Amino acid sequence: MRFRLIARLTIAAILLVFVPIAAPNSARAQAPALNPALPLTRVDHGPNSPWAQSQHYVVLVSLDGFRWDYAKRDNATHLLALARRGVSAPEGMLPSYPSLTYSNHFTIVTGLYPEHHGLVANSFLDPERGVRYSYTDSQATADSSWYSGIPLWSLAESQGMRTASLLWVGSEAKIAGFLPSWYAHYDAKNEPTPDSQQARIDDAVALLRLPPADRPHFITVYFSEPDHEGHEFGPDAPQTRTAALKMDVIVGKLEAALKATHLPIDLVVVSDHGMIKSEGDWIDLDQFADLTGFDAVGSLLYGKSEDDRARVYNQLKHASSQFVVYRLKNVPADLNYNQNPREGDPVIVATGPYAIRAHAPQAGQTDHSPTIGMHGLDPHIIPEMKASFFAAGPDLIAGKTVAPFENVNLYPWLAHMLGLHAPKSDGSLNILSGTLRDGGVTPEK
Ligand SMILES: [Zn+2]
Repeated sequence: MRFRLIARLTIAAILLVFVPIAAPNSARAQAPALNPALPLTRVDHGPNSPWAQSQHYVVLVSLDGFRWDYAKRDNATHLLALARRGVSAPEGMLPSYPSLTYSNHFTIVTGLYPEHHGLVANSFLDPERGVRYSYTDSQATADSSWYSGIPLWSLAESQGMRTASLLWVGSEAKIAGFLPSWYAHYDAKNEPTPDSQQARIDDAVALLRLPPADRPHFITVYFSEPDHEGHEFGPDAPQTRTAALKMDVIVGKLEAALKATHLPIDLVVVSDHGMIKSEGDWIDLDQFADLTGFDAVGSLLYGKSEDDRARVYNQLKHASSQFVVYRLKNVPADLNYNQNPREGDPVIVATGPYAIRAHAPQAGQTDHSPTIGMHGLDPHIIPEMKASFFAAGPDLIAGKTVAPFENVNLYPWLAHMLGLHAPKSDGSLNILSGTLRDGGVTPEK
């Protein structure tokens, strides 16, 4: 009897789960099959709600390491034309500290400073859990326990709007209850090829050609160039200029392909950070301080006891003019880097383009010189860290320019263009509302 009851409840539960999904699925069965150039994982959240179908589309593109001045410097005609047709920050956009790829990509989609969303660097330790996050560890990057905040795709999905990620930091983890409806798998070890870059454009367009009920309204597209060339050859090298212009051509191709869909799409092109030529060789912190008993990841130092932390702080305090050392709680407020134990304690902040690490590799392991180009520094004192910002589309005023602004402010602005209710974040819609045709005013429902 009990078994039968359980069986009946189970069948009822199965029906409850399947019935609401089955109806729209069968209605959508005639939809042309998506055959993406870049393989995508599908998470079926059902169709766009009728409300979502009435909203505009946003395609958010990131060009890794595309410094704020590259477009003008190298005459990137597609980006400069995008600026004329829409909005831009001619003096750049301020990345959040540290000006690193993972930290800032996740800031852009959550509106939170790195210490609030959790990715305080590309690789770091969580001293409370004793485990390490590394951008090269696909198990860690897909583990939602590392991430805080509500990424834009999760925000949209929770409000009945479908989304896709053609790569973005955090998009392979179920954060705030959702994955994107479609997402690609990122492998940090894969070198970008013209085919893999074109595949992202082809996928974006294929998704936008799905029937209105299915097509995503928010799509992120990530390109790892010209960061790679900036590191290897330096920001001013011909190879980096060529890579910047190559990415400009890709933006032009994407824009033409989006235009051909005749959909109301706002195209937003940003970068995560800039690039500067590094100076000198590695600075090894263990040359100045006894780091016995410390865990370390890069220049992040995790002392196990208060005595250790105070001792190393004192040993490093007057050690060099190339960095400043702070106890975690005393890191200056404008860095927004003084609350999260993942930041370590004490905290090292470089005063210039210096490559700093806790230790040289152990004997027998190969050591590499610092890369020619670097980033990660404080954008308030090193303007080469500033990032790019260009956008145009039906929601934006043509030819509008904005002064440098913090990238946390993109979140409420992007949410507004999609018609989403944004939660409180570290950003404010006021900063960019002057770029919006509706002035940032949400119409009464
Ligand atoms: Zn980089």
